Amino acid sequence: MRRVKSVSWSVGLSVQSESVLSDSSTPDCPTDCVVPWQSELLSSIPGVSHGLTRRVEGLGRAHGNIGFSAPRDREDAWTMRQHWCAAMGLVPEHLVTLGQIHGRDVHIVRNAHAGHGARPGSAQIGLGDSLVTNQAGPVLMTLHADCQPVLIVDPGAGRRGPAIGVVHAGWRGTVANVVGATLAVMTAAFGTRAEDACVVLGPAIGRCCYDVGEDVANAWSEIAGADAGDALEVDGNCHRFSLTAANAVLLDRAGVRTANVEKSAICTKCDGDHWFSHRGQGAQTGRFGAMISILDDGVVRG
Ligand SMILES: [Zn+2]
Repeated sequence: MRRVKSVSWSVGLSVQSESVLSDSSTPDCPTDCVVPWQSELLSSIPGVSHGLTRRVEGLGRAHGNIGFSAPRDREDAWTMRQHWCAAMGLVPEHLVTLGQIHGRDVHIVRNAHAGHGARPGSAQIGLGDSLVTNQAGPVLMTLHADCQPVLIVDPGAGRRGPAIGVVHAGWRGTVANVVGATLAVMTAAFGTRAEDACVVLGPAIGRCCYDVGEDVANAWSEIAGADAGDALEVDGNCHRFSLTAANAVLLDRAGVRTANVEKSAICTKCDGDHWFSHRGQGAQTGRFGAMISILDDGVVRG
């Protein structure tokens, strides 16, 4: 048992040791290279632990991948899940995942759901792109390779404890306003007030690399109206879309304060050495995970 770390670890990867990286069968966690990305904003909130896994060249059999989809080795991915969870003080056997479908369905996670989709072969909680809970124990996780991870924390107030959410938002989920849907469910289920919510828009493919078709441009323009230009640049036939800017517009509309939104500047395609990128590395590349969990008593259990 160890105390919650309140400091941010969101620094660059430490120097990697080839001798550690080349032996994925070692039972020891290679802590020198398993360094999660963490938000300064969320790290300052007590009672909640979170982090994003990354791509680490040479780690395990697929550079630290934690996704189970073919062609990946599921046992290797499970080992990676254990390593990454250990680095964040989270319990891998309590992970909860869903079958992501680029929609806006939100699942309310209870304690009994802990472990759904954690290990190879275990059933996920269901289909959807958003997980929320106000119970301690379950470790909510979405998987990503360019699509945006969105982490939400309602710190709670008075006798009402914290509530959390994690969202998978590609362009389809974004234009479907999955972030707004998630906040609405948190309000209805837990009493969350949007103005209290702290939100992190995590690493995703950036505007620099995200050329999209007219279908995306039209869908976004329809939902964003006068705000469309915040997230969409049109240059002749070329449209460039920013998931971060789009989700920031939608969070603002939902009532989240600008000061409570942290935006990562990382483009997963530009920084493909450290992040899995569907556009940069192909559809069969690995996945990084966004994890968040409420701690039962403010103490991280390893
Ligand atoms: Zn880029």
